Amino acid sequence: MILSFQPFQLKFKHPFGVSGHTRSETTSVFVTIEQNHCIGYGEACLPAYLGETLEGTLLFLKKAGTLLKTVHSTVAITEILSAIDILDHSCNAAKAAIDIALCDLYAKLSQQSFCEWQKIPFKNSMPTSFTIGIDHKEKIIQKIKEAEHFSILKIKAGTKDDVDLIKFIRQHTQKPLYIDVNQGWTNAEEALKLIDWMKDQGVLLIEQPLPKEKKKEMQWLSARSALPIFADESVKRYQDLIELDGAFAGINIKLMKCTGLMEAIKMIQYCKINRLQIFLGCMAESSCATGAMAQLMAFADYVDLDAPQLYLNDPFKGPSYANGEVMIQKGLGLAVEPIINVME
Ligand code: MG
Repeated sequence: MILSFQPFQLKFKHPFGVSGHTRSETTSVFVTIEQNHCIGYGEACLPAYLGETLEGTLLFLKKAGTLLKTVHSTVAITEILSAIDILDHSCNAAKAAIDIALCDLYAKLSQQSFCEWQKIPFKNSMPTSFTIGIDHKEKIIQKIKEAEHFSILKIKAGTKDDVDLIKFIRQHTQKPLYIDVNQGWTNAEEALKLIDWMKDQGVLLIEQPLPKEKKKEMQWLSARSALPIFADESVKRYQDLIELDGAFAGINIKLMKCTGLMEAIKMIQYCKINRLQIFLGCMAESSCATGAMAQLMAFADYVDLDAPQLYLNDPFKGPSYANGEVMIQKGLGLAVEPIINVME
């Protein structure tokens, strides 16, 4: 198999703020894996605050390319992914790019859609939240207007102004809210009071209120919280999931954290058995990786797959959006196609 890759700058419509960071673009690396003139597409999305560098990603992909040259699609995908995984202890986004491209390639080679190939249920649409980053009040009003077709808003919070922020949002919309704190609160008792108040403000769930290191405090908070609390930064991979120990009601699974679709499916199976709710999320990815994740919607309690809507120059065709829903078509592989040559 031949692996090729090329970095790409995804440009936001508006600068995007999360607790502690604001940026105007995101670096992704697009990946193709080719065999028998069949091409699988993948993406490694690298928001700078996650700490995975472009340099490290390219180096990892180079190593992975050498390995992939020696294998053929007669080898089981899980076997290839295990060999890729041990090339480096980190580089999860690069691993996800390879997983996505391999899943696309293998399904296409078998002339099936990804869900048919994996023998998992397919769901073609679900309501998705629209994410509003931390921003000035005028910009927040503008984004609320842009989100008029979406029925749920995901609000990036985690500053000392969260109460003011929600009061302000409530002057402009009564839509249900997901609140993503991005580890921005520090005190569990104060967080509990805030969550109580937020429940009365029409908030449906809270994501990652406390820093990931504060597991004991998270367990304390989750046991008392009026709203379900979801893990994001606390859970990257399957191994983190099985060490949670009651600290969360559910998990935000993202391909860039968990190394791709095959591990995401394993995590979903664990969540179903252990009655953890499933939130399918994404980094600020293009339609390539977002479309890949949307293949797993049949398993989700909630989805936040709006990322392609945040960009001016999405180079892929994949999910579409209407009436607050993310929709995908059943097609060969992951049903995502580039609209420009992403390898140039
Ligand atoms: Mg989050």
